Amino acid sequence: MEMGSKKEVQSLLPEGEVYQCPSCGYQDGFHLSFKWGQEDPYGELYLICPNCHARYRMGLKVKHPLREIERPFPEPEVPPV
Ligand SMILES: [Zn+2]
Repeated sequence: MEMGSKKEVQSLLPEGEVYQCPSCGYQDGFHLSFKWGQEDPYGELYLICPNCHARYRMGLKVKHPLREIERPFPEPEVPPV
């Protein structure tokens, strides 16, 4: 099981202020979660609604603080909405 939920991860458009959950309308922002591959120096940020626990991705990547960089920072991979 991934990230504490069996629900499918949805996509969120990275524009404007992102604080409202499209699923339930909760307006106080999101919890933040990270997903790392085994060796990959780049992980992805996920947003989790504190109210309904819906999960979202915006294609945001982050560099792991301890892993060596063997390839350039990846291009943003904006998921289809
Ligand atoms: Zn929600």
